[in-house]
Amino acid sequence: MGKLGLGIAAACAVASCAVAAVMVGRRVRSRRRWWKVVTAVQELEAAAATPVGRLRQVVDAMAVEMHAGLASEGGSKLKMLLTFVDNLPDGSENGIYYALHVGGTNFRILKIQLGGQRSILGRDVERKPIPQSLMTSTSEEFFDFIALALKEFIERMGNNLQLSQVRGKDLGFTFSFPVKQTSVSSGTLIKWTKGFAIEDMVEKDVVECLQKALSRRGLDMNVAALVNDSVGTLAVGHFLDKDTVAAVVIGTGTNACYLERADAVIKCQGLLSTSGGMVINMEWGNFWSSHLPRTSYDTDLDVESQNPNDQGFEKMISGMYLGDIVRRVIHRLSIESDIFGPLSYKLSTRFVLSTPLMAAMHEDDSPDLREVAKILEETLDIRDVPLKARKIMVKVCDVVTRRAARLVAAGIVGILKKIGRDGTGGISSGRIKGYKSGKMRRTVVAVEGGLYTSYTVFREYLNEAVAEILGEEIAPYVILKTMEDGSGIGAAMLAASNSARSVDTVQVL
Ligand code: ADP
Ligand code: MG
Repeated sequence: MGKLGLGIAAACAVASCAVAAVMVGRRVRSRRRWWKVVTAVQELEAAAATPVGRLRQVVDAMAVEMHAGLASEGGSKLKMLLTFVDNLPDGSENGIYYALHVGGTNFRILKIQLGGQRSILGRDVERKPIPQSLMTSTSEEFFDFIALALKEFIERMGNNLQLSQVRGKDLGFTFSFPVKQTSVSSGTLIKWTKGFAIEDMVEKDVVECLQKALSRRGLDMNVAALVNDSVGTLAVGHFLDKDTVAAVVIGTGTNACYLERADAVIKCQGLLSTSGGMVINMEWGNFWSSHLPRTSYDTDLDVESQNPNDQGFEKMISGMYLGDIVRRVIHRLSIESDIFGPLSYKLSTRFVLSTPLMAAMHEDDSPDLREVAKILEETLDIRDVPLKARKIMVKVCDVVTRRAARLVAAGIVGILKKIGRDGTGGISSGRIKGYKSGKMRRTVVAVEGGLYTSYTVFREYLNEAVAEILGEEIAPYVILKTMEDGSGIGAAMLAASNSARSVDTVQVL
C-alpha cells in the first residue's frame, strides 16, 4: 500500500470512529431524554396519587367543611346554599310540564308528561349549543335567546298548538351556577363559572330576568322552580327511587347536593320546613383541602384561569379542565425531550385538547394506538410519534382521569359521612370495626353529567373507588344511579310538586 493508500485508510478509520461517536452520543442523549420523560411521568403519578388512605382524608375534610359551611355564612369554601326545596318529588306528580336548563355547553329545553306512580309517560328534549358570544353578552340578549328557543320548541312540539294553550303552565328552570336562593322560585346569581361572564347578571334575580324575557316573547308561563342542576338530578332521582339522598353532577363543571336535616343548618336558625329536611346545594366545585393531591400543572392551570384561587376541586375533576391538564403535561414533556417530535405550538394553546378527545385517546384499544396518533396529529399537530410516546400519552390521560374519578368518589363518601350513611359513626369518630350492617340503610346517589355517562373508564374508576373507601361490608348498601338529563327533568318535576302544593312550605323566621 502506498502512502496515499495509507492516508485514505487512516482517514476512513477516523471518519467511522467519528460517526460511531456521534451515534453513541445521540443514543446516550436520546436515552437521557427518554429518562427525563419517564421521570416526569413518575413525578406526575406520585404527585397525583390517591391511595385509599389519602382518599379517606379527603372524605373527612369534605364532611368537616360541610359542617363548617352549615355553621356560619362564609365558614367554609363550601357555600352550602339553602335551596328552599324541602319536599322532593315522590312519584305521585301528574301532568305536562316544561323545563329549561342553562349551565354548560348545551342549553336544553324539555317537556315531560308525568303519570303518577313514579311514571314518566313521555319526554321530549332539545339541546342547543349556546353561542360563545352570548356567554359574555348582556342578560337581556342572553334570556331573549332562551325565551325564543322555548317558544319555537313549544310551537314545534305542539303540532300547531296555540301558544295560548301553555298559558299559566308551570316551568322548571335549572340554572347551574351559584345562586343565592330566596325562595324555591327566586334567587340571585352569586358569580359566573364555566367560562360565562355576563356581568350585568351578577346579583340579579335570575327568575325575574327569565320571566321578563318570556313576556317579551308572548309566553305567559310561570317559573315555578329555580334549581341548580344537582338539585334537579336529586329530584328526578327521588322521583324514581325514594332512597335517593344526594346527587352529583360531573360534566363541564361539577357540583353536588343532598338532603340535610333542617336543624343541622345552624347558620339559619329557625328554618321551618314542613318535612324537617332541606336540600343543600353544596357548590362543591369550590371545595379545597390540603389533602387534595395537587400537581404543578394544577397550579399553573389555576394561575392562568379566569378565576384563580376559585373552584379548586372543579379544576381537578371536571370536563372543562381534564383535557387541559393533560395538554400541560404533554407540553412539558415536549419541551424536555423530543419524544413528541419538534415542539408543536398548539401545545401552548389553552383548552386545545378537549376532555372527550382525551377520553378517546385514553380508551383507544387498538394495538398500535391509532386513535391516539390521529388525535395527536389532527388536534395537536404532532406527527409520526413512536408507539412508546403514544403509550406515554395514554398513561398521562390515565393518571389525570383516575385522580379525578377517585376524588369525586371521596367527595361522595364525604357527603354520606356527613349524613351518617357511610357506616362510620359521623365526623369525629373513625371507622367502626365490625359495624353491624343491619343498621345500614339502602342509600342511593344520583349521578349526572357527560363525564360519568360517556367516559366509561372514568365511571369505572369512580364506582371502584367508592366501594374501596366504604369497604366491602358497607359498599353494597350504597348505589350510584345514572340520571341522564336528570337535571332538566328534575326541574320540571319540582315545578310539578311545587305547583301542586302552590304554597311556600319553607319559612325563614
Ligand atoms: P354540561 O356539563 O355542559 O351540562 P354534560 O353533562 O353533557 O354537559 O357534560 C359535558 C361535558 O362532559 C363536556 O364538557 C365534556 O368535558 C364531558 N364529556 C362529554 N362526553 C365525553 C366523553 N365521551 N368522554 C369524556 N368526557 C366527555
Ligand atoms: Mg349538565
